[in-house]
Amino acid sequence: MRKFDDSYRHKGLRKKLMDILREKGITDEQVLAAMNNIPRHFFLDTALDNIAYEDRAFPIAEGQTISQPYTVAYQTQLLQVKPQDKILEIGTGSIYQATVLAEMGAKVFTIERQKALFDKTKQYIFRSKYPNLKFFYGDGFEGLPTYAPFDKVIITAAAPFIPPKLIDQLKPGGKMVIPVDEGVHQRMLRITKLPDGTTTEEAFNNFSFVPMLTGKNGYTS
Ligand code: SAH
Repeated sequence: MRKFDDSYRHKGLRKKLMDILREKGITDEQVLAAMNNIPRHFFLDTALDNIAYEDRAFPIAEGQTISQPYTVAYQTQLLQVKPQDKILEIGTGSIYQATVLAEMGAKVFTIERQKALFDKTKQYIFRSKYPNLKFFYGDGFEGLPTYAPFDKVIITAAAPFIPPKLIDQLKPGGKMVIPVDEGVHQRMLRITKLPDGTTTEEAFNNFSFVPMLTGKNGYTS
């Protein structure tokens, strides 16, 4: 059984990482406070324990990645999270991004298409700490019509286009943060749904994500 230990050393490294994120332009102190409260090394293989607080992405199971802390902070800041916001996340992966949103007091619904990664959520270490975080196995392009509408939608994989069903599942006034493919990289977009159902779009920096794929994958590839 793995021993989870959040030592003073880890806490110190985490605080330093928050300073790096500030230097890189993250200004939302609520985002930084949430990330400072979450032991990122718990979400990684123990072999990566010593480097868990470097500002970089790491491999997790099934050929997927835990996003770089800067990317998590950037997307979360763009999402303008408010406590009690109902948020749909596409791409559970390591559960780190979903945990940041739950720590900020949001009601989080996260979907993963890889069965092996979804199954791991059953052992989620913070299950009792965040009853406001719910896990779903499914195809993110379909969203979660049963639980819609959402205040916010965040996509954490490279989307080939803006999924229309996810726009449908957004409340009027709601926002979506989505990295959309432009070939070699993705452009981070923030879509706002207006009261009349039309949308406006703001474009931000470029990032590099693993692809958002259609359908569910029950088998390891
Ligand atoms: N938010 C994650 C990032 C994981 S990488 C974290 O904090 O660690 C992106 C994840 O999106 C991968 O786990 C991948 O399997 C998943 N994914 C890709 N396409 C998807 C889809 N259509 N529906 C749901 N999940 C998807």
